[in-house]
Amino acid sequence: MHSSKSLSILVVGAGHCGGRTVQALRELGWQGGIDLVGEEPGLPYERPPLSKEVLSGTKIPEALDLMGQDAWQALDLRRHHARVTAVDTQAQSATLSDGSILHYSSLLFANGGSPRRLDIPGADLPGVLALRTRADAARLAPQLAPGKRLAIIGGGFIGLEVAASARKLGCAVSLVEGGPQLMGRAVPKLLAERALALHIVRGVDMHLGVSPLRITQGEAGLEVELSSGVTLQADAVLIGIGIQAGTDVAQAAGIAVARGILVDRRLRTNVPNVYAAGDVAEFPSHLSGALLRQETWQNAESQARVAAQNLMGGSVEFAASSWFWSDQYDYQLQVSGEPAAASQTIVREQEDGDVLVFYADGVNKLVGACGWGLTSRIAKDLKLARTLVERGVIATAAVLADPATKLKSLLR
Ligand SMILES: Cc1cc2nc3c(=O)[nH]c(=O)nc-3n(C[C@H](O)[C@H](O)[C@H](O)COP(=O)(O)OP(=O)(O)OC[C@H]3O[C@@H](n4cnc5c(N)ncnc54)[C@H](O)[C@@H]3O)c2cc1C
Repeated sequence: MHSSKSLSILVVGAGHCGGRTVQALRELGWQGGIDLVGEEPGLPYERPPLSKEVLSGTKIPEALDLMGQDAWQALDLRRHHARVTAVDTQAQSATLSDGSILHYSSLLFANGGSPRRLDIPGADLPGVLALRTRADAARLAPQLAPGKRLAIIGGGFIGLEVAASARKLGCAVSLVEGGPQLMGRAVPKLLAERALALHIVRGVDMHLGVSPLRITQGEAGLEVELSSGVTLQADAVLIGIGIQAGTDVAQAAGIAVARGILVDRRLRTNVPNVYAAGDVAEFPSHLSGALLRQETWQNAESQARVAAQNLMGGSVEFAASSWFWSDQYDYQLQVSGEPAAASQTIVREQEDGDVLVFYADGVNKLVGACGWGLTSRIAKDLKLARTLVERGVIATAAVLADPATKLKSLLR
């Protein structure tokens, strides 16, 4: 481990992963300098509640901070409210948008990504919004009042969570998804269909398999013209079509990028002393070796810990099992492990339409699981399914598919 107090670690991005990394650095005993660079105001924070509790009005944005003020002050770091615009990997320095230059002994890219833009006429009109930051949520929130009309482009997690929050508040919602099912390839068709049915019951006007052609400002608000010939009327339009990983600064510095910044199992890029973690990093799965880029809370949390150790000179491999959740109304979806690495899919129908899907390899070892159901009813089983996957439990399809099998009994 490096020990010199003159060494300095530079973290690019003061979001979830960057915030957790600087916290872990001090917890792990790093005594050198820390520079944390990022434009967003306030303390680093968690984003998941933005589309859920913050929009629904049950949590204030400040409650999302990763830590309290005292803990933040105790980190004793240099916080730069700016962007990193260039990195010189030979000189081991970074240029900031305010013109300053910082030197580093090791650097972490934890700069996430930005919402993908919709490439159609009118996508830049006022009232066409995205949701990534607290500032975005503050712009969107007033549009979710009763009597208002929201059109959502994109049937992924963010679009669906906002749809649920908006319906809870009495806002009229229409949602447009270009693909044949909601939530794309991230969840099996069976679960996507249950989610679709729920959104329809809760009053969302769903348009699947159609694309938006243009957005115009009409007399009574925004108009979204669809490929189906339908025109949606809305007071605001939310674009939720995924994010573009922030690879440009790294790429310009000669660091290898693909869908994200490419790293190995130790989160190292192809350039010495430069690492990447969180949404921006594309890393090899410890399970299958497949290159993954994950946009999940758990990935930001667990990669931050590994990155911190390696930034300090450690040699730790990232091997955490993947996991994410999405809350829509009083329902929850979870996906854990790596379903794509499976050769068997096992469906377990539970009470009142709740469903779990298990994924196993050729020797009946669990490599993934997902589930959907009423949160209060299915939460325990979702947690158990995740633990079964993390432990790589071996179980036959017949046992897993039987709702009478107590999942807890498989842990032994
Ligand atoms: C609305 C919403 C809901 C979500 N819900 C869930 C959920 O239910 N479950 C789940 O698992 N995950 C969810 N996520 C995903 C989760 O929040 C992200 O995976 C996580 O925030 C990633 O952390 P990160 O630090 O990699 O990126 P971010 O949190 O995006 O942080 C990156 C930071 O880097 C800054 N930055 C960018 N470029 C530069 C630069 N050049 N120089 C300096 N700084 C820069 C950005 O301003 C930003 O502050 C949600 C995300 C959103 C937006």
